[in-house]
Amino acid sequence: MNQSQRFTDTVVFITGAGGGIGRATALAFAAEGARVATTDLPGAGHQETARLITENGGTALALDCDVTDSHDVVSALDQVVSTYGRLDAAFNNAGIEQSHDTIAELDDAEWHRLLSVNLTGMYLCMKHEIRFMTAHGGGTIVNTSSGAGVMGIAGQAAYAATKHAVIGLSKSAALESISDGVRINVVAPGVIDTQMIGRVSGGTEEGRQAMVDQEPIGRLGTPEEIASAVLWLSADESAFAVGHTLIVDGGQTVG
Ligand code: NAD
Repeated sequence: MNQSQRFTDTVVFITGAGGGIGRATALAFAAEGARVATTDLPGAGHQETARLITENGGTALALDCDVTDSHDVVSALDQVVSTYGRLDAAFNNAGIEQSHDTIAELDDAEWHRLLSVNLTGMYLCMKHEIRFMTAHGGGTIVNTSSGAGVMGIAGQAAYAATKHAVIGLSKSAALESISDGVRINVVAPGVIDTQMIGRVSGGTEEGRQAMVDQEPIGRLGTPEEIASAVLWLSADESAFAVGHTLIVDGGQTVG
């Protein structure tokens, strides 16, 4: 099969690249010729993602970056630009799930933790990526929301609040940035078969089957199916898509 090479001149920065959707997207970008900065919390697996890329002949740079820390974000972006001379694309994907609690039961610390990673982290990354991209003639940014960004989920109010907010933040930033050549969009995955879903389902076969049973398509999504959507939103093929939220969820939010 012919492998398309849409990203041969592209330097891409990916957060939460240690596993799941982030790793699959890093591998997909690299397979199409991109130089990829795989970033995540120390020890989270982003070194291994970079190794998988380089062992296949690709180019990757693994960097520790806690998205809640502006110094980490700026330092990682600085290292990408000093190594590769530019920043063309970003996939802001780092995120955490919440404990299954109603809002009345929710621990305040859990609320702040969710906001800090899923929303403030997104804000900090975009803020500095836009600055770097504007200085180098533009670029593309894809932010990760969720099906929980377009509907309410009982027991997931904090997570849903952050994922709704990602869409509002991204739409506004998209309007601010498109005239500078920075094109911002959102991917909203449904239930995707990653470690996060293993934790949410309790790690049991029954828990997993209960999730599958809610799926109109009759199965969970794969990280590669989300990677494919992210690459489309980052490619010239989607040049007229601005501030768009692409829902990829097997039909879960349709009804
Ligand atoms: P995952 O847990 O496999 O990956 C998330 C990554 O984010 C991890 O590698 C983790 O170390 C990293 N991370 C957490 N806190 C961080 C921080 N402070 N700084 C930097 N990195 C941090 O989960 P995943 O399923 O691959 O999820 C990726 C994204 O997709 C998340 O934003 C998640 O909310 C979203 N999402 C996932 C699903 C799903 O069903 N798996 C559905 C909708 C949305």
